Amino acid sequence: MEQRAEIGVTGLAVMGRNLARNFARHGHVVAIHNRTYAKTQALLDEAGDEGTFIASESMADFVATLERPRKVIIMVKAGPGTDAVIEELAGLLEEGDIIVDAGNAHFPDTVRREKELAERGLHFVGSGVSGGEEGALNGPSIMPGGSRESYESLGPLLEDISAKVDGVPCCTYVGPDGAGHFVKMVHNGIEYADMQLIAEAYDLIRRGTGKSPAEIAAIFREWNSGELESFLIEITAEVLAQDDARTGKALVDVILDQAEQKGTGRWTVQNALDLGVPITGIAEATFARALSGGVPQREAARAALPAGTVEWHVDDPDAFVEDVRRALYASKVVAYSQGFDQIAAASQEYGWGVDRGAMARIWRGGCIIRARFLNRITEAYERDEQLPLLLADDFFVDVVSQCLEAWRRVVAGAAQNGIPTPAFSSSLAYYDGVRADRLPAALIQGLRDFFGAHTYRRTDADGTFHTEWGADR
Ligand code: NAP
Repeated sequence: MEQRAEIGVTGLAVMGRNLARNFARHGHVVAIHNRTYAKTQALLDEAGDEGTFIASESMADFVATLERPRKVIIMVKAGPGTDAVIEELAGLLEEGDIIVDAGNAHFPDTVRREKELAERGLHFVGSGVSGGEEGALNGPSIMPGGSRESYESLGPLLEDISAKVDGVPCCTYVGPDGAGHFVKMVHNGIEYADMQLIAEAYDLIRRGTGKSPAEIAAIFREWNSGELESFLIEITAEVLAQDDARTGKALVDVILDQAEQKGTGRWTVQNALDLGVPITGIAEATFARALSGGVPQREAARAALPAGTVEWHVDDPDAFVEDVRRALYASKVVAYSQGFDQIAAASQEYGWGVDRGAMARIWRGGCIIRARFLNRITEAYERDEQLPLLLADDFFVDVVSQCLEAWRRVVAGAAQNGIPTPAFSSSLAYYDGVRADRLPAALIQGLRDFFGAHTYRRTDADGTFHTEWGADR
């Protein structure tokens, strides 16, 4: 009998090609297809001896090479391209077959596609894949949604090619319809916050101590051997240590200071607004990128606005660097805590039943936010599956307690000296807000009742109340 493929990949740009090679390297027979055959041929030329690939020029031939239930991973440009490929595939597949969209789809699109395909008897799995090009080839973190039934046959294949930490795959079933893409979206939001916090830490050290990028690279290298150990801290040291071949300067000083974005941070913030979950670290990180790109506003402000500060003098540079490390760690805990709150709220709202501890577990390897402290998050949710606030877990209470004084010194110093630290500052404000005995929200309720008769609730009685403001005066 002709050989059949266990899995198919259509869309062989950098991500799809590497995923296909990863399957082949793990001994799976992989069917490959791309709209333009040249990419299929390039894969065969480059990696054809890494395993068994069955290449097809047409989608119909591609589908015919797959064993049933057919499992097809789509790795094409997110958006209309994905819909076009799904439509073509759906006409060729049979009941029970599985389509996986491993691109960066927005989760409402995944919910829609899953519903439409379920009505046609097909499984649709929206799956987050993190780790970029390198992860796709050597082991990504994989976040598949869709039906649990589809995970039974698809899951072992995905787990096989995923990253492993302590022998545990960085892939698990996330939840129905859009849950996988949702969790990937929040992962990216946390990535935004992580990167902004790192950038603020670098800026503070540079402006506070006058150290060079290469010297700060050494600090990040050292941090990476401690509790902050993570992929992003590791590569920060690499980026800061890089010299520009053209000018000989530190490359970071030659790069234009305008951060770009593809949109997952914005989606995360938009959804958090819909759900009413304060993810201030992620939001500030997203806005900080927007601010950096606001060229006319920056030019106008630079010309007109005074700093009103004195020259910054740090007495003890080593102590200051340690303060910044602690402020970074505490702010990072806040950003993760907020991200996990958003996952909990979405899971409740959309009926997904996402296991937050399992998400932290599959982010330990393969993905961009992989970090040592994700183990601690998994443990926190193992201790209490219903934990209302990650920050309030005993381990993180200890962490933040040890960082708190330094965190306040850093944020106060930055404010006094005109250094923008939107993520450090907003994380501290969130910390103080969420732990407050009593918030000035009571006054807001009073104002709302004053101008709009919106009513308020009392601390000493049930029900809602309205006051004829000023009547007794
Ligand atoms: P890409 O540049 O986003 O997309 C190029 C691929 O899409 C090509 O194979 C192209 O086929 C195909 N394509 C585009 N429109 C199509 C259409 N209408 N019909 C059929 N095929 C179409 O590729 P990528 O960087 O490898 O990313 C693939 C997906 O993974 C994206 O959704 C991306 O967001 C996601 N992702 C990327 C990364 C990353 O680090 N790059 C990480 C995680 C997730 P042709 O060759 O025929 O043009």
